[in-house]
Amino acid sequence: MTSPSFTLSARSALVLFSGGQDSTTCLAWALARYERVETVGFDYGQRHRVELAQRSVVLRALRARFAAWRERLGEDHLLDASVVGQISECALTRDMVFEMAEGGLPNTFVPGRNLLFMTLAGALAYRRGLQVIVTGVCETDYSGYPDCRDDTMKAMQLALSLGMDRRFVVETPLMWIDKAATWQMAHGLGQQSGSDQGGDVLVELIVEHTHTCYEGDRQHRHAWGYGCGRCPACALRSAGWERWRTGTSVRKTS
Ligand code: ZN
Repeated sequence: MTSPSFTLSARSALVLFSGGQDSTTCLAWALARYERVETVGFDYGQRHRVELAQRSVVLRALRARFAAWRERLGEDHLLDASVVGQISECALTRDMVFEMAEGGLPNTFVPGRNLLFMTLAGALAYRRGLQVIVTGVCETDYSGYPDCRDDTMKAMQLALSLGMDRRFVVETPLMWIDKAATWQMAHGLGQQSGSDQGGDVLVELIVEHTHTCYEGDRQHRHAWGYGCGRCPACALRSAGWERWRTGTSVRKTS
């Protein structure tokens, strides 16, 4: 890491990048807008650790296929957030069946996980001089996760800005769209990238290299990518793909 930076550049962004479909789409969104884009991922003992391995595969593929984005895409950071595994009993970090738990939340919910990740991202953004923090949280598909909500993210923007005395901007490009519209967004961003057949290339890159499945399955290849096809993450991804291909995407307006 280079020496601390004490001014933030409005033309730069830090993307919370897990190696999944949503965060890869957010990364493309940021690369289309900002001159300098860095990425951060978190190792929190997730069961689907293959996701972490796919991060660098996705970054390499983006650099190889999109010349305009290559020079904008800067350093990648992987932070140890294993403390999450220490304090949570959930299906993402323990060998448990995925199901709905008490209070109507899925048992993949890790209390405060995104709050912690946003705080770590804010500290890193401060140090790297990056003003915009981009995250793929979304109310439409994951309304059960309170730390993915718009109000939570607005509160985090304020808390980070006050707590570090810097004007951070938290961007959530996927907040009001569903998984079908996320595929469409990726296609549009690829098309606008200036790369030949960029829309199809970006969708294919996401299908082939991003990882979503909670079970860490990269043996079974479907039209929408790799996965067990049964876990909640696979179900969302495949249903979104199906709706996008059949043109029945919805946009939530609230
Ligand atoms: Zn799965």
